[in-house]
Amino acid sequence: MTDRGYGSWLTQHALRNGQRTALVDDVGGAVTTYSQLETRTNQLAAALDANGVQRGDRVAMLLLNSPQMMEIYFAVAKLGAIAVPVNFRLHASEVAYVLEDSGSSFLFHSTAFAELAADATADNRRIQRSVMVPTLAERATTSGGDSAGDYEEFLAGGSPERVEREISHDDICVLMYTSGTTGRPKGAMLTHGNFFYNAVNGMGFDSGLGRTDITISAAPLFHIGALGVHTLPFLFIGAQVVITEAFAPDAWLEAVSRHKVTKAFLVPAMWAAVAQSGALQTADLSTLRSGISGGAPCPITVITALREAGMEFTEGFGMTETAPIAACLQPEDVVAHAGSIGRPAQFNDFRIVDEEGVQVPTGEVGELCVRGPNVFIGYWNKPDETANALRNGWFHTGDLAHVDEEGFYTLVDRKKDMVITGGENVYPIEVEQVMYQHPEVREVAVIGVPDAKWGERVMAVVVLTEGASVDADGLRQWTRGRIAHFKAPSEVVLVDELPRTATGKLLKRNLRQELGGPDAAVSR
Ligand code: ATP
Ligand code: MG
Repeated sequence: MTDRGYGSWLTQHALRNGQRTALVDDVGGAVTTYSQLETRTNQLAAALDANGVQRGDRVAMLLLNSPQMMEIYFAVAKLGAIAVPVNFRLHASEVAYVLEDSGSSFLFHSTAFAELAADATADNRRIQRSVMVPTLAERATTSGGDSAGDYEEFLAGGSPERVEREISHDDICVLMYTSGTTGRPKGAMLTHGNFFYNAVNGMGFDSGLGRTDITISAAPLFHIGALGVHTLPFLFIGAQVVITEAFAPDAWLEAVSRHKVTKAFLVPAMWAAVAQSGALQTADLSTLRSGISGGAPCPITVITALREAGMEFTEGFGMTETAPIAACLQPEDVVAHAGSIGRPAQFNDFRIVDEEGVQVPTGEVGELCVRGPNVFIGYWNKPDETANALRNGWFHTGDLAHVDEEGFYTLVDRKKDMVITGGENVYPIEVEQVMYQHPEVREVAVIGVPDAKWGERVMAVVVLTEGASVDADGLRQWTRGRIAHFKAPSEVVLVDELPRTATGKLLKRNLRQELGGPDAAVSR
């Protein structure tokens, strides 16, 4: 066997535990065993090979979550080609940018995105072929009929003969664009080795993870969170992954009980919706052993609500560039170290440095740097950004953090979001955590806006709960009574909703531009 990339995980499980369930389609209930997944991904790889997909070629995916999406990831990996998952909530011009920048020559898109795919490829001369993938609902109602046709027909065109390609841990297998929270998304080049060490990192934390575990992929699989925190580590160990297409808190709770899910990952905005759902109190979560949040700060109020509902809940830290698992708080440390992201993962070293790259003393805030075999090898087509991010083997994350005597790390904020007001550093997340304690605050984003006297001043942009009685000034006074005055927002702006990325991250750069006045557009 020549294939030692992540495609080989399936080959091994098919040999040893072929009849075990790998993937379950939450809508139609279809089950794919490891043996079927191995056969289907070999066949899809052969079909891609017959269509000219070479080692290193980029295969783009504009897809809703589905078992087919995982088949494509694995088939591309088996060929030594590179999967390019694209965020389908981007505007057509942004999708076009990702397709162009990656130089993708092949595109799989959901039937639901036919128009988006057409708009995004209108001026693209590199895409040789597009294949439509049915949605889960279409698959359930047509049982392999018309709309399932394009993908199944394409797959059936591949010979069952396995395409043998030498693959090493250093080969790139996924080109994943960052969330675009702080600027234009950058294509992080991730290797087979990155995903191998990510899976082992994930298991190192979670000594309880075994073949009988069941997870549910409800966050989008084009994002590193859903792909790397649960889905791939579960398939690495031969466990089961239930795949849902869209997230809604009540349906998610129902699916967790119906599929007897044992471990679940969601991003904080999704966990917040679960915590607020009336169904949480009555849902049967008896099989759910742990919930994990990552990708953005999780309000402590949400963590508390979920723990009170009986869930063993914890928080992890990761990034697209670390595939993603880089740190995690062990469940037994959650109470004593609330707010921390825990200690570095098994294969990671952390370091906190100042502007000059010199390590700061314990307890002081600086930029978090990460080193280890799950760290990406660079940004696609971006030598300057790569040189800036990867220095002497250390990845400079752009996140600010501090570490305590026991080695627990706490993120304070992103470098680009820090506010400097009258020479004092203010970390917006700290202010947000205080404001979340007001019972009428549903969502809050704290930003810095240009100020003639102080350089920047602190502004809070708030969505109130329905029927709230507090007003902007009342909330400003309330916050002032609970935090140092220089950190308290000098202005509170009430809005109906906050701009977020597809995975629910706050787009603070948009807020700064909208609310910061004429000087706010200055790039950070
Ligand atoms: P871009 O790099 O394009 O601006 P992004 O950084 O949001 O987007 P991702 O790779 O999806 O793209 O996210 C990684 C970032 O998410 C981290 O750098 C960190 O700021 C944030 N993050 C991840 N986990 C946590 C966590 N547990 N708590 C707070 N922030 C987190
Ligand atoms: Mg980033």
